[in-house]
Amino acid sequence: MRPSQADLIELETNLPRSANKGAQWRMPYAARPRYIQLETVTKCNAACPFCPQNELDRGVPKMPDEMWKKVVDMTRGWGITYRPFLTNEPFVDKRQPEITRYIKENDPTAKVEYNSNGELMTEKNARAILEAGVDILRFSIDGLSRETYEPSRVGVNFDSVYERVPRFLEIWREEGYEEKGVFTEVRCIKVPENAHEMDDYVAFWKPKCSDVLLTDLYEWPWMGQKAADVPRKPCLKILDELFVYANGNVTICCWDVHERAVIGNVNEQTIEEIWTGYAANHMRALLDDGRRDLLHLCSRCNAYEDYDFSRFVAE
Ligand code: SF4
Repeated sequence: MRPSQADLIELETNLPRSANKGAQWRMPYAARPRYIQLETVTKCNAACPFCPQNELDRGVPKMPDEMWKKVVDMTRGWGITYRPFLTNEPFVDKRQPEITRYIKENDPTAKVEYNSNGELMTEKNARAILEAGVDILRFSIDGLSRETYEPSRVGVNFDSVYERVPRFLEIWREEGYEEKGVFTEVRCIKVPENAHEMDDYVAFWKPKCSDVLLTDLYEWPWMGQKAADVPRKPCLKILDELFVYANGNVTICCWDVHERAVIGNVNEQTIEEIWTGYAANHMRALLDDGRRDLLHLCSRCNAYEDYDFSRFVAE
């Protein structure tokens, strides 16, 4: 979740708060994760300047089939929204229709969501993923013109995106997937370079999809933040999400590109054990006390620095 979206999330304030004695805040952590991201491959077809994707080194380029199946099997019936990607373009992995179908099989509570840059969404891929049962497809398209788009999404072909994503949306609408409840979104990171296009951007995309989202550019941890400037605050990002890397390691924050906050491994533990385990609870306890400085990953993160956490102050 991006900091700019923090106000939009529905926090279940009736959930049991963490019981850390002495913590300054008590955040409402979900009893089980509600979102699981699976880094099925580590590659991306883009080289966006704001993304550290090209720094990934997991030791393996691809998550084995047995691993993603094991994670899905361990969490069936939990009402999970699975996102089979992490810091990569999901459709680099040709297994996505198979992965979606496997997740949706025999689990009416499961949803599958993708964020894609759209370049690889050929008509064939569009039909395959829609037929497999995808629930949510978000396309990140940061500009309406070649001039604004290409400096942001380096390596992605503007013409392909503006041909394939509208075609995907036509198929989605004409072949009844909209009526079946499949949600589509086109989203754009607003920057000074594309600000003048935003009204036309919304006018172009809004009639074609379920929704259009304009967001602010966010800052990953360890992108030059200084320890002294990092706020002593808790975090909204770790309330209900879990992230599994291609090598089986698990982290609690989607911005942990370099595995600085690994809390378990799915080769050795169940998802339940990882979510409720010592490492995850220790991290929550420190963040509930605003002690980002004691967590390697968080010690250079200024997410939510302006967010008002007063409703979570420990009584
Ligand atoms: S790095 Fe730490 S403080 Fe920053 S968003 Fe992730 S978990 Fe929260």
